[in-house]
Amino acid sequence: MLSSFRSSSALLRPTLLTSLSRHPAAPLNRLHSTHPSTTFEPLLPSNFTGFSNLPPTNSFTLPPNATLGTLPFPKSLSPSSALEFKHCPQSYLLRYILNYKDPQTPAMLKGTIIHTALEKLYRDTRRPNRTRSKLHNLLRESWSEYKTSNHSTFLEMFGSNVQQEIEWGRSALGLLDNYLELEDPKNLPSDPVGLEKWVRSNLTSSNSTFIVRGIIDRLDLVQSDSCINTRITDYKSGKAPNLKYSYSMNKKIREESFWQLKVYALLHKLQNQKSAEKRYEDQIISDDGNSTKFSSEGIGVRYLRLIYLNNVNGEGEIMEYDLGESEEERDEVLEKTKEELVETWESIMELIEEGDVKHFKHCERKFCGCHKARSVFVDGTLSNEIVERK
Ligand SMILES: [Zn+2]
Repeated sequence: MLSSFRSSSALLRPTLLTSLSRHPAAPLNRLHSTHPSTTFEPLLPSNFTGFSNLPPTNSFTLPPNATLGTLPFPKSLSPSSALEFKHCPQSYLLRYILNYKDPQTPAMLKGTIIHTALEKLYRDTRRPNRTRSKLHNLLRESWSEYKTSNHSTFLEMFGSNVQQEIEWGRSALGLLDNYLELEDPKNLPSDPVGLEKWVRSNLTSSNSTFIVRGIIDRLDLVQSDSCINTRITDYKSGKAPNLKYSYSMNKKIREESFWQLKVYALLHKLQNQKSAEKRYEDQIISDDGNSTKFSSEGIGVRYLRLIYLNNVNGEGEIMEYDLGESEEERDEVLEKTKEELVETWESIMELIEEGDVKHFKHCERKFCGCHKARSVFVDGTLSNEIVERK
């Protein structure tokens, strides 16, 4: 595999991989069609509203009438749910099998309104009008719309602290300013050929078929040498990973950062193969000012791009990934990604079939929601009940 990548930031300092996606994976359907139907009662109390609201470990008790059935099977996988399983099976169980949600946080909401503003900038705004003030106005608009439709969320996050909300909004505007340092929306080589594009495909494991899905922020056609290729772009409102480690560790971090986009590239390819996708057309304007019409249908993804709106220096940063020069190289990367998805799915199925929540191991990440829920997974608590009822 000859994949390569580069970072546009010359200044890199230590940091944690703290990128945020505003696509918290959608709730998954509970039952898988190839598995028997099951009844299931909540593992946690009905008033449980999110990991961060769980009571301290030692005071957690089961609701008096809790009944437990077989764990439900998920129906689909997304890059985020697959990564969550990889990092922390226990958190995956809570979030994606039992459907307990993380509460909305100011950082998540910031990512949402930033993505909406950028989408509108490219979807609804003519090139000459894609200015800084326009982008700021789009953000304020989406802030206001979200606040109207999700009043209680704002109330929970900011209460009556207007100043706090203003600071939050200002920092979102600051992230968009960082973005404008990286790309000039008035002068992109070509307009995006896809925005907030859903991709999905069925994959087959040894004994079941499952859906993998996701949303691509932006698709561009890019010209390199004499070729036109598709590039997947994903905006990240969290900080860029800081590549301060050894070569191999940095490589690992980068590969993981791009894994989500590799899944998108795979889904894009499978979807293109399967059905006649909507035809996107766009103009590619070459350096000499000539333009040519191209259709993105059938044009495979070669490049992946992560646009981080923040890094350790408070600046935006672009990370690029080349899936490979030849189609064979790219297919090799995508095939590996497919295998990883299938392996993840099979591991999840295996654990669910075992029917013991204790087998969903917790992680050691300090920020993970599993910490507060851990009491239900230890001996003498719920996990034993599940085993007994099997
Ligand atoms: Zn965890």
